[in-house]
Formats: sequence, structure tokens, C-alpha cells
Amino acid sequence: MKNFALVFRRTQYNRYSLPLLMGIVEQAAPVVDVFMIDSLDSLSDFYKVYDSIILAYSFTTVQLYRTASEVSFIKANYPKTRLIAGGPHVTADPDGCLEVGFDAVFVGEGERTLSSFALTLASGGDPFDRVVFADESSSPVSIDDYFPASLRHSLFGPMEITRGCFYGCSFCQTPRLFRRKIRHRSIESVLKGIKLAGNYIGERLYFLSPNAFSYQSSAPGEINYEAVEELLISVKAQGVRDLDIAYFPSEIRPESINERTLDLLKKYCSNRKIAIGIQSGAESVLKRVNRTNPLSKTIEAVELARKHGFTSHCDFIFGFPDETQEEADASIDLMTMLIKKYDARIHCHFFMPLPTTPLWNQRPSGLSEKTVTALKRLREWGKLDGWWEEQEKIAFDILSWKQNGLIKV
Ligand code: SF4
Repeated sequence: MKNFALVFRRTQYNRYSLPLLMGIVEQAAPVVDVFMIDSLDSLSDFYKVYDSIILAYSFTTVQLYRTASEVSFIKANYPKTRLIAGGPHVTADPDGCLEVGFDAVFVGEGERTLSSFALTLASGGDPFDRVVFADESSSPVSIDDYFPASLRHSLFGPMEITRGCFYGCSFCQTPRLFRRKIRHRSIESVLKGIKLAGNYIGERLYFLSPNAFSYQSSAPGEINYEAVEELLISVKAQGVRDLDIAYFPSEIRPESINERTLDLLKKYCSNRKIAIGIQSGAESVLKRVNRTNPLSKTIEAVELARKHGFTSHCDFIFGFPDETQEEADASIDLMTMLIKKYDARIHCHFFMPLPTTPLWNQRPSGLSEKTVTALKRLREWGKLDGWWEEQEKIAFDILSWKQNGLIKV
């Protein structure tokens, strides 16, 4: 029997984070056996080989209840398993997660803390003499030093080119999690990552960024065209056939859409769809949630994108606190106009009250029958997607998790 293995629990929601997390452990402590599982059923197989398992979770608030249920199941059925967790929800509520049953939690960026945890494991020490691992360093992690790649498992995630966001939309955790410390990956590091991944991303490379054209910029709204073009040229020179930017898992702010950025996309990238965050068709809502771009400019951006042959996949969020029927109607009207006039597609969401955001613990506005009927009609046209119906239920669940103590903050 081997002593232990570190096993990551993969779900559809953390599949992009796992290559990075597993790669961190592989890089810091190559002697540690690292795996991932898609189902808890396979734990019993691991116990045929290993004395004990450390099972690692990375999750958001949306997955809290399901994760907590799994923790209870593991405690009851595999009592020798030690449970660790990180990710956006853990960072927001470490005490609540310890109470759920995790043996140790990782707060904030995991690169350095997970490395030191793995090193302690590799050296035969007991990393569980601490229960909260927080990166206390005053200097932020350099994303240049870490790659979304688990070489042992041939797993490669989207290449993060920018971490953090200059903006402060009040429903979004991103700027809060990274304390507004914006970092960009150097071109040297991007190229190193491509070499490391070899053939696996030789064909198609996805960039990960909260705003595709903020690469190497130093202020909101600023676009460093030269740096973006140099990045794209350098990557294409490596033989990457298809390069995707400004589409899932990255998106583009409407104010970054102009002739020059669209020309760059056309010249170097393969995607002809772009993901644009619009969020609401009511200026009053946009103001309340701190979205600064005027709607008229956003509409111009979608129009320009269409003129250049791009399909805009526009994010809208319904159910913001105090959203009135008139405001919801304004979103439906704008969506309909964008579909009809510019052949846009809509990615529809329901507002999630997330810890650390200014809108945390505020009550969502439920969808009226009128709004639901209109959204379903757009879906029937084949122009609207998204899991807004499930999200509406989860949004109210999150508030009840707070009320019954599952969330402590
Ligand atoms: S929604 Fe996008 S632009 Fe707004 S704060 Fe979040 S990442 Fe930044």
C-alpha cells in the first residue's frame, strides 16, 4: 500500500481550474501522487492502493450545497479521507467551509499556498497543523510562473493572460477576489506554456481574461494595441492553428470593441463569435450595479461587430435587487432588437447574490410570468441560451443557506 494520494474532485464548474491546480502540485512536489475524479464512486478504488486520500475541492457559492452533501457522504463512508478546499466561495467564507467539514481551506490565490502544502506533504510533514492557508505575501502571485497544465495527466486549460479586473461591477467577485491587483502574463510565459503543452494545444488555444483587450493595459478602458498584437503574432508564430479570444471563457467589454480591435480579431483569431457583457437594457439598473458604459455605446459596439462579420453573444442578467417590471421589459426589448437587427445571440443569466460583492445577501427580484414567457419565446427562436431558470432557484437557495448558517459571512 502506498501512503497517500492527493485527488482533485472535478466537476463541470471547475474543469478549467484543475489543470492549473494539479500543475501547481506536480511542479512543487513531483513525488506526490496526484489524480482527479469525476465521481466519488472511484474513491473505493483509490483505497485499494493508498492508505489515505486527501480529496481537494475547488468550488463557487453556487455549488455549496452539493459540495456540503458530498463532504457529509465522505465523512460517513470514507472516514480516513482528509478534505481540503479552495476557490471563490472558500475565499469568501473560510469559517463556514471549515464548519461544513473541510479539514483545511485555502483563501485567495492558491499558487503559493498549495505549493507549500504539497511540499510539506512531500517531505513527510503534517500540513494539517494549520487549517487556514492564506497567502499573506504583500506581493501578488506572478501568473508568469504557473501554467494551466497537468503534464502528468495531459490536461491543459485555457491560458490566463490577465488576472483581476479594473472594473467594479457590484454583482461580480472577480475584482474582490484578486484585490484589484491586475497582472498580465508576459509573452515569454505564454510561449513557454505553449511549448510545455506541446501538441495538446498546438491546434487550438483559448485565452482566459475578464476582458480580452485589457492585456498589458494599466487602467480601465485603456487598450494596449501594440501589446495585444505582439501577443497574437507571437502565438501564431508557434504554429497554433486556432486562437480564440474575446469568446468564452474570456469576454470583451463593449467599450473595447472598435475598428482596430475587431481588425486584430479578424487577422489573428479564429472565433467569429464574441462574448459581450451587456447585463441590462435599463440604464437605471446599469447605474445601480456600477456598469459604466452607456447603452447607446454598447449598441454601437454590437452593430460594429456585426458589420465586421462577428456574432455577438450578449450576456444579460435578470433579477437584480429592486429590478422593476419596466426595467426587465427594457432588457427584453433590447435583446429582441439586438437579435432582429444585428443577428445577436443572448446568453441569459439570473442574478446570484455572492459573498464579498456589494450585492451580497440582497434579495433578487423574481422573474414575472411576463418576463419568463418572453425569455422562453426568444429561446424557442433559437436565439437565447443560458440556465437562468436553474439560477433563479439557486439564487434564493443561497439566501436560505445564509439564513440557516451554511454560509457564515
Ligand atoms: S463583470 Fe467583468 S468587467 Fe465587471 S468586474 Fe466582473 S470581470 Fe470585471
